[in-house]
Amino acid sequence: MRNVLITGASRGIGAETARLFAAQGDNVIINYFRSNAAAETLCREINSAGHKAVTFRADVSDSHETAAMFAYAEQCFGGVDVLVNNAGIAQTKLFTDITDDDWQRMISTNLSSVFYCCRAALPYMIRKHCGRIINVSSMWGQIGGSCEVHYSAAKAGIIGLTKALAKEEGLSGITVNCIAPGVIRTDMTANLSEEDFAALADETPTGTIGTPADAAKAILFLASPDSSFITGQVLSVSGGFVV
Ligand code: NAD
Repeated sequence: MRNVLITGASRGIGAETARLFAAQGDNVIINYFRSNAAAETLCREINSAGHKAVTFRADVSDSHETAAMFAYAEQCFGGVDVLVNNAGIAQTKLFTDITDDDWQRMISTNLSSVFYCCRAALPYMIRKHCGRIINVSSMWGQIGGSCEVHYSAAKAGIIGLTKALAKEEGLSGITVNCIAPGVIRTDMTANLSEEDFAALADETPTGTIGTPADAAKAILFLASPDSSFITGQVLSVSGGFVV
């Protein structure tokens, strides 16, 4: 049984990831920012199935709130064995319309959060000489998305952080990987119409749109003993959209 902290876990990919870790018997720390009701509902769902979950409200773009969350995780479970950096925001804007605030919010929520969480999680993992970090990037971090330059830059930053940290922590028994989802049906893509989804599916080799479970299962694989010789990698979960 491991202790798994998932950021932005009240809904979408994060919530599904929490359910799957809990179902295999792991303790789950559900981080949320604004969606208190959804996080509590998920927590009750997991606990009433006989598994163990707790919630913690923290804005992971804030290093102090993030540090407080890891202190709570330590108090509840002793430390975090598996960290899933999933929290993120998206925004579609012409590059020339991106304001300083848009840029700062995008970078601090999607990239600085990963730095804060990894830094807070690592001392315990290093002491135990084992640990798993799985970061959620995006295919736009690999290939760039038009009208999502700030999002693409933050997600590309996650890939760089993942590779460098994997090299630094390998001898400490810690693997660091990321997944790069393609189009997944969640609140983040709720602005897309059914016609948009159909066109995107058409462009995808599998002819389908991804589900939160598709991404969550890839995260579980990267946290499992089956992936112990895999580190510093970017696993595309895009139905072949990016090959
Ligand atoms: P979502 O909007 O349902 O989930 C994002 C979660 O992050 C939400 O629970 C939100 O409350 C949380 N969050 C946002 N800011 C936060 C903050 N400051 N502190 C704590 N939590 C915060 O969308 P999703 O699709 O489930 O997104 C999960 C991850 O997957 C994101 O990092 C996203 O960029 C990435 N992703 C999604 C897609 C897609 O098509 N849906 C594709 C590629 C990558």
